[in-house]
Amino acid sequence: MRELLRKIPQVSKLIEEYGKVHGDSPLLRMAIKNAVDKVRREILEGKRSHLEDLGLVIEEELKRLKRTNLRRVINATGVVINTNLGRSVLSEETANFIKEIATHYSNLEFDLEEGKRGSRVRLVEELLVDLVGCESAHVVNNNAGAVFLVLNTHAKDREVIVSRGELVEIGGSFRIPDIMRASGAILVEVGTTNKTRLQDYKNAISPNTALIMKVHKSNFYMEGFIEEVKAEELLSLGLPVYYDAGSGLLMDLRKLGINYEEPSFEELIKKGLHLVSGSGDKLLGGPQAGLILGKREFVEPLKKNPLSRVLRVDKLTLSALEHTLRLYREERYEEIPTLRMLSTAEEELKKKAKKVAKHLKNVKWLSVSIVRELSVCGGGSLPELKLPTYCVAIKHQRISPQELYKWLLKQEPPVVGRLRDDLLLLDMRTVLEEDIKPLISVLKGLEF
Ligand SMILES: *Cc1c(COP(=O)(O)O)cnc(C)c1O
Repeated sequence: MRELLRKIPQVSKLIEEYGKVHGDSPLLRMAIKNAVDKVRREILEGKRSHLEDLGLVIEEELKRLKRTNLRRVINATGVVINTNLGRSVLSEETANFIKEIATHYSNLEFDLEEGKRGSRVRLVEELLVDLVGCESAHVVNNNAGAVFLVLNTHAKDREVIVSRGELVEIGGSFRIPDIMRASGAILVEVGTTNKTRLQDYKNAISPNTALIMKVHKSNFYMEGFIEEVKAEELLSLGLPVYYDAGSGLLMDLRKLGINYEEPSFEELIKKGLHLVSGSGDKLLGGPQAGLILGKREFVEPLKKNPLSRVLRVDKLTLSALEHTLRLYREERYEEIPTLRMLSTAEEELKKKAKKVAKHLKNVKWLSVSIVRELSVCGGGSLPELKLPTYCVAIKHQRISPQELYKWLLKQEPPVVGRLRDDLLLLDMRTVLEEDIKPLISVLKGLEF
């Protein structure tokens, strides 16, 4: 061991040697230092008995240092709104608009007609009001922020009635009881896990009740002996009703050929709810944001709460949101990748699978087939929806499906598939058109 440690060349010698190839740079020096540290550690841990690949370790480290941490990946999971993989993909046209705003000055908070300061939310408020038919709209950082802001503004130190069946956890530490406590509102739980009736809400009303809140169950559904009160029925109690709609739909899903009972923002507002909120990057297919829509007397106080400044959206979000909302207004739904992927016809997915499979026919060690499967929407949206899809199923004769899954994550670009039994599935629903070529070339690399 000591012998081997002594054999590690001096860092200065390595910098001289590799500097000739790569050019001396701070990054190269860092790579060499890291590589030497790594090799030394491996020797001490008894995991290394030679230094033959030191050059390779340095090259790998240099590559890693040059690579950004946030990277594009190929989503072959079939989960359209995949929170781990960045939720909604934006269209090229939307991205171009973000670029224009990002690389120039803009009228973000400047009213060009009046020549004086204007609010940033006004940039999207009119579009939202038009699309949804509400009196007023507000936008914050995300829907969790929207829930927090609504509760803090309208129910601080006051009671909010929620059904026990709706005290959900959305994932990543968003739990309704916790967010409510943090906002200063007092949670009053009514009903049971599976059944809550109008009378339960009625019995819980006190002089200190500020709001009745309904929460979209999002990532689960109940079957069997169940009963819940619809948001519009809660209006009969004579108190303000706030609905956290979770995803937030700006259109009728049936227009896309998707048969699913999910009321749009517009329908919810028409029913007369005082406040409705939802995410910008779930079913809406835009950037991360929290949209709050409703009656003027309930939305305007939100804007005056100092927390609105804490939760405000930046110009990149606003440019993405405005552009996406314009696509809705022009009814160009096919330009919104989330909606397009949810509504892609089975036949088209089959064609895509065949195209990928065809290129893999002669790859050694690989057996490839096409299987019909089901993909899901994800992101806590449309939990009961199962979309028929086609997957390229691969098996490698030299490595296990789990190893194959991990190998794919290490490629450029990384590919995220899904495991089922002894197969690695690549679901074509979420593989973008421009991902097909890189996907094929990654898979061809399996010939080892
Ligand atoms: C997703 C979701 C949230 C959180 O929304 P973010 O935009 O991710 O902050 C809150 N409530 C419900 C019901 C949700 O489904």
